[in-house]
Amino acid sequence: MTIAQQTPQADPQLPDIQAAARGLYINGSWRQSSSGLQIEVIDPSTGALLATVPDATIKDARASVDAASTAAPAWRATPPRRRSEILRRCFELMVERSEMLATLISMENGKAMRDARGEVAYAAEFFRWNAEEAVRITGEFGLAPSGTNRIIVDYQPIGICLLITPWNFPAAMATRKIAPALAAGCTVILKPASETPLTAYALAAIYEEAGVPPGVVNVLTTSTPGPIAAEVLADPRVRKLSFTGSTGVGRLLLAEAAKHVVSCAMELGGNAPFLVFDDADLEAALEGAMIAKMRNAGEACTAANRFYVQSGIYDAFADGLTKRMAALKVGAGVDAQTDCGPMITRKAVEKISRLVEDSKKKGARVLCGGEMPAEAGFFYPPTVLADVPANSEMAHEEIFGPVAPLYRFDSEEEAISRANDTEYGLAAYVYTRDLARGLRVSAGLEAGMIALNRGLMSDPAAPFGGVKQSGLGREGGQHHGIAEFMEAKYIATSF
Ligand code: NAP
Repeated sequence: MTIAQQTPQADPQLPDIQAAARGLYINGSWRQSSSGLQIEVIDPSTGALLATVPDATIKDARASVDAASTAAPAWRATPPRRRSEILRRCFELMVERSEMLATLISMENGKAMRDARGEVAYAAEFFRWNAEEAVRITGEFGLAPSGTNRIIVDYQPIGICLLITPWNFPAAMATRKIAPALAAGCTVILKPASETPLTAYALAAIYEEAGVPPGVVNVLTTSTPGPIAAEVLADPRVRKLSFTGSTGVGRLLLAEAAKHVVSCAMELGGNAPFLVFDDADLEAALEGAMIAKMRNAGEACTAANRFYVQSGIYDAFADGLTKRMAALKVGAGVDAQTDCGPMITRKAVEKISRLVEDSKKKGARVLCGGEMPAEAGFFYPPTVLADVPANSEMAHEEIFGPVAPLYRFDSEEEAISRANDTEYGLAAYVYTRDLARGLRVSAGLEAGMIALNRGLMSDPAAPFGGVKQSGLGREGGQHHGIAEFMEAKYIATSF
């Protein structure tokens, strides 16, 4: 195991990287990979090595399925009230350790501390919400229309779940799956992203401390996610795949799961439109735009990816957004002054740069930013591009960075039609003072989630998910999140 020299150890509110990198978490114990190989975790602010974590093999993956299988009967039989109390304790410990967790997220992901703190609060909330939901799972009872029999519907845990998560929200994407799965009575294997494994392991230690029994949650990191996922999905004991990540990898996993008819929940990529109508409150729209674009430095599936601004307000919006974006301080995430941290990898910066250069070549005007910096670390400056041509690559691809492209529109119909001109359908934003128009446009937009006169919609109490190629199923919400981890069993009887 390699540890960065500056790793702080003494203060409990500072992350203990050594502990977070101590091993795979299988059956309640920390162990090395059966191959002895390691994965490097890089600090995106400097490009330097932060730590290494074990690189799990197929043999380790089998061990995690065995552990989840052995733990399943007792966890399923654990009274809902007890499961609820354990989940509540996970929430409390996450809140107690929030500064430590936020610092760890910021170190390995690069996001600004303000965003990292926001993520920890959001991630912890999934435990509180699902602790409350765990004791409210009910069935159905009724008389068949023919009058011949009664219909009883019982909801049962679906079984062992494979959870695969991305690097952009290393805590929240994991807890958004683990908390409802455990509330439903399932046991899980989490495969976190290779760029941000430390948060997943630090959280595993918290679950253990909160009383989650050995084998109920297993965490493994691997540099060969394809073969490992294929192996786990081929095991007949595994009944659910819950994936958050890119649409491309989602398609591969859907094909793999189809071989064994494994139930899938897919939270995939986005290309969110942000619509600003002439009658919008300009200040509110600008404030919302900064949140929708710059939370996580643009590395969010819900990030505003295309700004459609009506002609009458276009220049004022462009001017206001440019002033705000140009004023942001770019720096290491852990630096208290930072508004915009680095991107996750050099490759991510190069992708953003490619998209910006393409739109510039096609005629976009750079209002601020727009040049890839030369210095170390994976930085890209906050950028505003005006008059971006509709045939720019960035109109169709996730930018996943601090770049705001502006497109001009004239009519409501045009705005809806252009907003829907994408294979994605995760999130959309609408700014107008006319409520009827806001609701009409929301109804017309092909997206799973709409923020109407708001820059943020994520909430554990609301169903999160997309339509079209942004995914299948929902996470969070009153029943949706837990329902993904349950099967309905129908019993016909008469008396
Ligand atoms: P990604 O490349 O699809 O990776 C996501 C996860 O899948 C990682 O754990 C990755 O492991 C794993 N993976 C990669 N190839 C795999 C394979 N062949 N089989 C099984 N697993 C595989 O996505 P990302 O770059 O980490 O995350 C960004 C994407 O996630 C964006 O498209 C974003 O929109 C989307 N996202 C969606 C939501 C949502 O709720 N809809 C939320 C957040 C992010 P390695 O890290 O080891 O490669």
